[in-house]
Amino acid sequence: MNQFSEATIVAISTPPGRGGLGVVRLSGGQAIEIATRLIKLPKLPLETQHATRGAFVEAESGRVLDQVVVTCFRAPHSYTAEDVVEISCHGAPIILRYLEECCLAEGARPAEPGEFTMRAFLNGRIDLTQAEAVRDLIESQTIYQARVAAQQLTGSVSARLKPHKQVLLELIARLEAGIDFAEDDVSVIHWQEIVTRIDRIRRDLETVAAGYEYGRIVREGLTLAIVGRPNVGKSSLFNRLLNEERAIVTAIPGTTRDLVAETANLGGIPLRFVDTAGVREAQDEVEKIGVERTFSAIADSDLRLMVVDASEPWTGEDTALLEKLRPLGSLLIALNKSDLPNVAAGLPRHIIAAVSDRRSNVAPGFSPAHAALKGGTTMPDPVAETVPGDLDMGAGVTPPEIVRTSALTGEGIHELKENILALAVPARDVWPEGEFITNLRHQQLVKDSLAGLVKAHQAAEQHTPHEMLLLDLYDALRPLDLITGATYADDVLDIIFKTFCVGK
Ligand code: GDP
Repeated sequence: MNQFSEATIVAISTPPGRGGLGVVRLSGGQAIEIATRLIKLPKLPLETQHATRGAFVEAESGRVLDQVVVTCFRAPHSYTAEDVVEISCHGAPIILRYLEECCLAEGARPAEPGEFTMRAFLNGRIDLTQAEAVRDLIESQTIYQARVAAQQLTGSVSARLKPHKQVLLELIARLEAGIDFAEDDVSVIHWQEIVTRIDRIRRDLETVAAGYEYGRIVREGLTLAIVGRPNVGKSSLFNRLLNEERAIVTAIPGTTRDLVAETANLGGIPLRFVDTAGVREAQDEVEKIGVERTFSAIADSDLRLMVVDASEPWTGEDTALLEKLRPLGSLLIALNKSDLPNVAAGLPRHIIAAVSDRRSNVAPGFSPAHAALKGGTTMPDPVAETVPGDLDMGAGVTPPEIVRTSALTGEGIHELKENILALAVPARDVWPEGEFITNLRHQQLVKDSLAGLVKAHQAAEQHTPHEMLLLDLYDALRPLDLITGATYADDVLDIIFKTFCVGK
């Protein structure tokens, strides 16, 4: 029995609006009783985990309102571990609402958001990470995100953390045993051994924490701002990238007055493209506000794509823009309109130099030095006289990735996408699904646990009494409990008695 068993809850489980089917779900001690009172069924009792055809009948007139299918899951073999009944109707909102009202009249109460999953958690069907994975699965926008959430739904996050928690528990148990049963025959654990064990858990948890940066990207996606002078082909590239990838339908309006944003599925990661229109020197106050807003959107993006018209000479405006973009972080440059004869006059030296490093992307006719690029292994001096806008790269600054594209013919679009992904998600190939955490709450707790381990490490190095050291170890254990589920004092005692045979 659980604390909810008296309250049977009901909700329309399918999204609002008209559809082929709509499902009303009941969970709780009265679920089967309520459903069988409202639905006319060929025979009773309802068979468990079977779909049974029935009729939803209007109480007063006895008239059939809808043909339905009833699926019954008896406790504990159901989503919530309680009796669950799912009634599939035709997806008419009026019917679904009426059926829900009838369930309420029969004694059910409306479910709170997430309450079915909360019951599954409170009844011990799933742990908290699995409950969170249900939410992520429902919210996923790409199949890859869904796959990761589904993996977590099987309990992969807890499975990843539990071995570390176990090592920690064993250490705690050893130290507790030493204190509680001092006169018994408990072997003393040496300081060095304690430090070694703490450090082992620390290293493991640090790897888990490192995976979050990738996990966050998988869960939340990324924003890429497309920037450049007017008419260089930003909108054309934006559309090309979106058309090639399946655009993601989003219910959240992402369009502001100045900025057009769309989300595409790039390698399973939702990538929000923001077309920033032309960024130019503001002529008046109003325009200045607009430009400032555009720049903060550019700065807030995870990466930036500067589009240059390669069929026109490089201008001072390009240089000014590049100077503004470089300090902001990850930057890609698309030399667009590669289908037209290219003019490289004035291209900054480092762009030519960077292009020379990526010869595969360079088409003939690109730059004054293209002959050297095509055939030579070394880059001759890139025509310094034609480089009035040369930029100081600054020490330690990675040059931007440069790709030649044509929004018209599609040339270079594949390379551009590869470059975007490589720049945005460098860890893409490192983390197998289910090996990383995606949830900020989990990340914070892993960090809290690490903080406890750091303190414990210092305490152990300074040979602090075990009672004090244990406080730090419990500080490391508690946050992990909040992810994987609680450790009870019994768990510690269990290990003491099983592993150490105290009191034999
Ligand atoms: P934006 O102002 O930077 O957004 O530029 P647009 O996307 O509106 O493009 C400006 C003009 O350049 C349009 O006439 C496009 O058709 C043209 N354009 C864009 N990309 C290419 C390209 O790769 N090759 C050629 N030949 N024309 C292009």
